[in-house]
Amino acid sequence: MLVFPPVALKADVRDHLRNTFTNEELVSEVGEEVADREFDALLSSLSHPPSFSCVRINTHLAPPQQVQHTLQQELTGQQLGGCHGEEASLVPLPHSQLPDVLMLPILGPRRVCVLDSEVVVGAQCGSSVLRGAHVFAPGILSAPKTLQVGGLVSVFSDVENKCTRGAKSFEGQKVFLGNGVCEMSRSEVFCSKGPIRGVAVRMTDRLYITPCFDRVLPHLVFLQNLPSVVVGHVLGPRPGECVLDMCAAPGGKTTHIATLMSNQGVVVALDKIRSKVEKLRENAAKQHLSCIQAFCCNSIQAVATPTSPSQNSTWDGANGPPFPEESFDRVLLDAPCSGLGQRPNMAVSCSLKEICSYQPLQRKLFSTAVRLLKVGGVLVYSTCTVTLAENEEQVAWALRTFPSLTLQPQEPHLGEQGMLGAGLSHDQRRLLQRFHPRMRGGVASDGHTPMPCLDDADSDTIGFFIAKFVKS
Ligand code: SAM
Repeated sequence: MLVFPPVALKADVRDHLRNTFTNEELVSEVGEEVADREFDALLSSLSHPPSFSCVRINTHLAPPQQVQHTLQQELTGQQLGGCHGEEASLVPLPHSQLPDVLMLPILGPRRVCVLDSEVVVGAQCGSSVLRGAHVFAPGILSAPKTLQVGGLVSVFSDVENKCTRGAKSFEGQKVFLGNGVCEMSRSEVFCSKGPIRGVAVRMTDRLYITPCFDRVLPHLVFLQNLPSVVVGHVLGPRPGECVLDMCAAPGGKTTHIATLMSNQGVVVALDKIRSKVEKLRENAAKQHLSCIQAFCCNSIQAVATPTSPSQNSTWDGANGPPFPEESFDRVLLDAPCSGLGQRPNMAVSCSLKEICSYQPLQRKLFSTAVRLLKVGGVLVYSTCTVTLAENEEQVAWALRTFPSLTLQPQEPHLGEQGMLGAGLSHDQRRLLQRFHPRMRGGVASDGHTPMPCLDDADSDTIGFFIAKFVKS
């Protein structure tokens, strides 16, 4: 059952994506009708939340079973915005193949009545609300004159980014997210002294219910999309190794890598935005992971040039970038990308030009990654987008450009194989892992919201791509 319209895209972005998903190679295999249908289903899935939230356990500090129990206790009694029976059914479940993962159902869409009074929030705030957050004041765009503390309101999300902040009402395209109680008046929300923080609407009756992980066991669990956790396992770091995470902030994968290494060895984490590096350091400290060394750096320039002092020396594990060539046992390039796999996402604001700008940037970063990797080392390339240009086409380019690289099988392999259209062979595509979002569930005919099935959790997730190489 469709609740929200498919993700809103600019017309040229939509055409570009449609061409990708109905490319000649693909259509000749599955037929035009199936390719078209799959594309439409993809756009619908993207605007809806996945059927489970995924939390990764910091196994460095506590065993999974203990964390499952502690988390269950923490979440009991949380007001999630559903009825008691629904809330009681939302318990953390272990993932069948990933020992460090707990899955929490996202229950919905539920039947919720729309109220007379409404606030409209931005698309980003709307996505957070769908994933369990309350409405924070900076996210509100429009609120009625009568908004006052204790009043009940319906919350809508602006789909096309057209609502102006401070408006009293909005008649543009918007989607309903649920109802809540105001904790701020209109004048507090739109305070003239500048942006105000804090919860403005506490959600009490949601379209989708799922626990909110804000400040819940921050040292023991990390909210992370399932494919992102798969990346850490596919990289397969071992205690004592030197590992480079080239685009690391805010550190979800860095802290996972350090955890898999039992905090032994060195994980160098680079990101080009200083404030994000600070956030990464905070996350590492919160999880007691002292083997992480974080630096603010443009990773394209992370390899030492022949004139720089560190050239020809071996890296001693103490200095920051630039590093001598072949310094690392494993390199993760979780590349900056167009992010078109993120869910729920009701509207993509970026232009076609921006979407197309990522391929050359990713190639520059990839070339640096190959130079910094030791012979025999492992390189994992990942993105959270669905385009061919940033995924399979990059793999085809890498195999042509770096004869020393070979594709490797991935463990675990929970996603689908690579998509047709980039000229890769069947065997090459089978070694790739593409998470192609497929929405499940819906409202049952008796009006009850069915519990999502754990078997669907691996496919009803965000759009994501993983490739693993070894350098010979
Ligand atoms: N790996 C991260 C995680 O799991 O938490 C997410 C990384 S996000 C997909 C991409 C990151 O690349 C952003 O934080 C961005 O600031 C960073 N970035 C973009 N261009 C970069 C560059 N040239 N050098 C280093 N970092 C870069």
